[in-house]
Amino acid sequence: MSADSDVVTPAARPPRFAVAGMGATGVGVFVALVRSLLDGGRAEGCEVHIFETGERLGAGVAYSTPHDCHLLNMRAGTMSVQADDPDHFVRWLAGRQDAPAEAKEATYVPRRLFASYLQEHFGEALREARRAGIRVSTHRAVVSDCREDARGVHLIAGVDHFLVDYAFLCLGDLPSTEYLEFTKVPTYVHSMWQGAGLEGVDPDATVGIIGSSLTAVDALLLLRSTGHRGAVSCFSRRRSLPKVQGPRVDHTLKYVTEEELRRLSADFTRELELDEVAGLFRRELEEGLGIAIDWTRVLAEPDASFTGTLARDVRLAENGQTLWYSILDATSEVIPLVWRAMSPAARESFVRDHLSIWSMFRHCMPLDNARRLLDMAEDGAFEALTGLTAVSYDEDRELFRMEGAQAGEPFAREVRYLVNATGTGFALDRSDSSLIQNMLMRGDIRPHPLGGIDVDFDTMRVIGRDGSPSDRALYIGPLTRGVHFYTNSFETNLANAHSAVAAVAAHLADS
Ligand SMILES: Cc1cc2nc3c(=O)[nH]c(=O)nc-3n(C[C@H](O)[C@H](O)[C@H](O)COP(=O)(O)OP(=O)(O)OC[C@H]3O[C@@H](n4cnc5c(N)ncnc54)[C@H](O)[C@@H]3O)c2cc1C
Repeated sequence: MSADSDVVTPAARPPRFAVAGMGATGVGVFVALVRSLLDGGRAEGCEVHIFETGERLGAGVAYSTPHDCHLLNMRAGTMSVQADDPDHFVRWLAGRQDAPAEAKEATYVPRRLFASYLQEHFGEALREARRAGIRVSTHRAVVSDCREDARGVHLIAGVDHFLVDYAFLCLGDLPSTEYLEFTKVPTYVHSMWQGAGLEGVDPDATVGIIGSSLTAVDALLLLRSTGHRGAVSCFSRRRSLPKVQGPRVDHTLKYVTEEELRRLSADFTRELELDEVAGLFRRELEEGLGIAIDWTRVLAEPDASFTGTLARDVRLAENGQTLWYSILDATSEVIPLVWRAMSPAARESFVRDHLSIWSMFRHCMPLDNARRLLDMAEDGAFEALTGLTAVSYDEDRELFRMEGAQAGEPFAREVRYLVNATGTGFALDRSDSSLIQNMLMRGDIRPHPLGGIDVDFDTMRVIGRDGSPSDRALYIGPLTRGVHFYTNSFETNLANAHSAVAAVAAHLADS
């Protein structure tokens, strides 16, 4: 902790840093920061304060699940914490007794293994930092405020005050900001990953799951693996279960490329409309697949027979007929640039009208999970309904009522437990984080029009209400979705962690 009296300019003493939030992104920042300080020859005497609310340093929310049925939804080959060594995680898996035999680049392993990997890697970076003379302190505390002035960045954690030169904020996802009206109901589960999750669900009770994304799949598989016997129904507004990932093959992009984006946007001086961007993807997919795609059929409302659709999707994945997935997957790296090139109207229209179908294809299920889900569907262990329009709670009967219409047919179901699997929240003003609320209230951060926090695209410096970027407070992680779009992948957050550290190193060099 720094007393105000010992403040001198960064140039006159080794710099001090804070990393708030030690999930996967926090680990990425810390590892990159230690490397940068070592490479820059300025490690000796630096201070790094690490703050984490939870018990486990470096595990993160999504990866803390102990259940083997919760798989990473990305291939092991995309989950290396070493940005310049993509096989790092795959090699680490090879040395683990509890990892699948012969884990390869394309294997989908339980998320808990990734948490162990992160923690181990964090531990190594910590030891390396201390050996090099960096003074690292870890604090199990909630950072409740972060305020910048001419002397640096002031953080409040519990009753303590810290003054640092740079703060990396890596707070992760916000819990869903939908259905908050039910949070007092004991049979309502607002988040699968926080609090007791599904632990308290009576195995014989009826359960409703709102959402049909990968989190809903996680909920279904967990209920199955814990022997749940009651009827389970999955409800979504528009889209059905995610598609199924087949084997990945290499695809060299031809149209969704930086060069093509530069050409179309005249070197990013003209904003692209949705039709133009959709045209690039259409050509990439149609030429890659060698067929003209029937887009009306692909974009049509989901079939009422979700079991039939799931069985077909599993079959296609087993037969390797999922080249579309490899093509979409190949676009990962260029997606933030595509997003940046689009006009605000194009981005807004995409989020409003097309994000759910994009997610259904882009964030699809590993085949192993899809097979388990198909077994459940064929046993009649759950149903999936789209067209949800209303959710209410009857206090007298202690039941949730779900209503809607699927393919024109009205439906109504009553369930004892309700699980919110709608994903994460992006409405800052509804966040329960005092850190975010305090910064928002003062105008130190501003909401991005498409949700989350506004940051500078290249450096992650937070942008204040007056539109100016901070030099010393940076935000990295899923909440920068409005700016980077593809932030629910470790790969992107790691790349952004490196950009943030590089921006700080450049600022330090100039100061
Ligand atoms: C269920 C699920 C599955 C996913 N699976 C994958 C996958 O397979 N592959 C993939 O690439 N991505 C996956 N993701 C996306 C994943 O969230 C991101 O890739 C990334 O790992 C997010 O990490 P994070 O550190 O930013 O956030 P988190 O893991 O949420 O970590 C943030 C940390 O900050 C701490 N914190 C928050 N506020 C404060 C505060 N005020 N003070 C101190 N500490 C604080 C929290 O306790 C937490 O530990 C998944 C996401 C979910 C929800």
